[in-house]
Amino acid sequence: MAATLDLSRASAPSQTAPVNLAGLTREGLKAALIAAGVAAPDKARMRAAQVWRWVHHYGVTDFAKMSDVAKETRTRMADAFVLRRPEIVERQQSRDGVRKWLIRFSPGVEAETVFIPGVGRAGALCVSSQVGCTLNCSFCHTGTQALVRNLTGAEIISQVQVARDDLGEWPSPKEDRQLSNIVFMGMGEPLYNLDNVAEAMEVISDNEGIALSRRRITVSTSGVVPELKPLGDRTNAMLAISLHATNDALRDELVPLNRKYPIAELMAAVKAYPGLSNARRVTFEYVMLKGVNDSLADARALVKLVQGVPAKINLIPFNPWPGSKYECSDWATIEAFAAVLNRAGYASPIRTPRGRDILAACGQLKSESEKQRASALRAMTRTA
Ligand code: SAH
Ligand code: SF4
Repeated sequence: MAATLDLSRASAPSQTAPVNLAGLTREGLKAALIAAGVAAPDKARMRAAQVWRWVHHYGVTDFAKMSDVAKETRTRMADAFVLRRPEIVERQQSRDGVRKWLIRFSPGVEAETVFIPGVGRAGALCVSSQVGCTLNCSFCHTGTQALVRNLTGAEIISQVQVARDDLGEWPSPKEDRQLSNIVFMGMGEPLYNLDNVAEAMEVISDNEGIALSRRRITVSTSGVVPELKPLGDRTNAMLAISLHATNDALRDELVPLNRKYPIAELMAAVKAYPGLSNARRVTFEYVMLKGVNDSLADARALVKLVQGVPAKINLIPFNPWPGSKYECSDWATIEAFAAVLNRAGYASPIRTPRGRDILAACGQLKSESEKQRASALRAMTRTA
C-alpha cells in the first residue's frame, strides 16, 4: 500500500544540502567519493572502505580525525560533504536507566528513539521508521498522529549513531556491548517503509561498522501481509507480529489493518516467513487490555492460533495515554494468561513497562512530547 505522504506539513529530505556521509551505504559512499572527485573510479573501493571504517567503526564526525587519510583528501571531503548527526531536541533518562532522545531530522520532522538496558542480550534500541503512522490502532498513541513522512535510511541509521554517541560506544566493541539489539518498535509501520528500513539494516549490520548481527535486529509489524516475505528475503531480520487479538472481529477493532489482511492470511504469511525455525522464532506481541482481550479463553485461543509456529509470545501491559479508552489488565490476570501459554510450552515473558516516567514506553512515543511542547508554549508547566 502506498502511504499518503502529506508533505505540506513538514519538509521532505533535502535534495540540495551537502550529502551527509554518515548515512550512506557502502555503494553510496563509493559513488559519492567518485562524483565529488575525491577518489578515482579505480581507487574508490579502497578509499570508501577506509572512510567507512572511520564513520561506522570509530563513529567520527570530523574529517580531520581520519588520521590515515591524506590531509588533502580530508580537506576535499570536508569541502564536498558533511559528516554529522541530526539535532537532539531533548534527551531524557529515566529512573530505570531507559534513555530517550527526541530527534529533529528537519523542521517539523521529529521522532523518538529509546534505549532500554537489560533487554535482549545487553540492551535494545527501539528505533522509529516513520514520523507518525498511517494506521490507527485504537490502543496506540502514535496512531493518533497523522503520518508526516517516512524516515530515510540515513535518518534511521542516525538514530543508532545518536544512541552510540550517548552511550560512548565507539569504536564498535567486539564484546560486552551495551547496545546489542535493535527493535523497529518505535513510531511507524516499518513495512510501509521497507526500502529505507532494509537500507538502514545493511549499514547497521555491516561487519566493519556497527556490526550488529541481523539475528539481533527485530522488525515489528502490525501485519502488512504482502511485505513479510520481501522483509525476510531482503533483510533476514527477526520478525515480530503485533497480534493483540485471536479473532477477526476484535482485531478489526484494535488493529484496523486486519480488515485488509485478516488473521488467517496473516498466519499463513508468518508460517511462510523465510528462515523461520526453532532457532529463529517469530515473536507475537499481545497488548493486555482489561476486559477486552485478556480472558483465559483468549489465552487458549491464542495457543491454538499459534500452534505449529516456532513462536515466542510477548505480553505487553497496556501503557495508558491521555484520552485512551482502555485500561491495562490487572497483574494477576496477566500472570494467569501467561500461565496458560507457558503450560502449552510457549515462552511468554511479560514485558515490564520501562521508562514510563519519561513516557518512553511502547505506544507513548512522540505524540506526548509534541503535546508537552505545545503546552510549554502556552507557558504551562507540566511533568510527565
Ligand atoms: N507499527 C509497528 C511497530 C511499532 S509499534 C507495530 O505495530 O508492530 C510497537 C509495539 O508497541 C507494537 O506491538 C504495538 O502494538 C505496541 N503498542 C502500541 N501502543 C501501545 C500501548 N499504548 N501500550 C502497549 N503497547 C503498545
Ligand atoms: Fe502504527 Fe504500530 Fe501504532 Fe498501529 S501500533 S498505530 S501500526 S505504530
